[in-house]
Amino acid sequence: MVQSIRLIFLGPPGAGKGTQAQILAESHGIPHISTGEILRAAIANETELGQQAQGFVDRGELVPDSLILDLIRERLQQPDAQQGWILDGFPRNVSQAAFLNTLLAELSQQCNVALNLEVPDSTLIERLLSRGRKDDNQETIRRRLEVYREQTAPVIDFYQKQGSLQSVNGDRLPEEVTAALKDAIAS
Ligand code: AMP
Repeated sequence: MVQSIRLIFLGPPGAGKGTQAQILAESHGIPHISTGEILRAAIANETELGQQAQGFVDRGELVPDSLILDLIRERLQQPDAQQGWILDGFPRNVSQAAFLNTLLAELSQQCNVALNLEVPDSTLIERLLSRGRKDDNQETIRRRLEVYREQTAPVIDFYQKQGSLQSVNGDRLPEEVTAALKDAIAS
């Protein structure tokens, strides 16, 4: 029997969410849904969403919830997401987390676990500077870390209170992180 796996990845920019989400998505045969990737593709394709999102992404700010919520609602209803999914970069604030709870109840889906990757700031900055994405310059990185602390870190408490949080040390070799995440999912 195929077991449905629905995971949320939390953690600051540069924590390795994208890398780890991709590995786990491949091993479980489920989609890796990255709102950052969706927005970057929309910006590259100059769609209406991309045009509305670009300024926020370039400044390291969150794009308004109104641009993201419908997109998630539609994405989780796609055929490939019915056996599970991994969310990377969503929810990014407490109102998105509350929206996701309501949406999942509506869709009769349940998230297994919210995985929180813990990495110290010094490692994050080092990793982000070596990544070379357009929004990975010094100033934007500083703003993204601030936005993370102010708006996204409270999402950790939200899932802690809900009893679905598992924190994993992300400051080690990628394969060690993957193994620890697999243990956390299985526990
Ligand atoms: P990421 O690839 O997850 O680091 O996201 C890159 C950028 O996309 C962020 O700095 C935000 O500007 C935007 N973004 C991604 N996901 C969200 C979200 N769930 N809510 C608001 N903005 C987002």
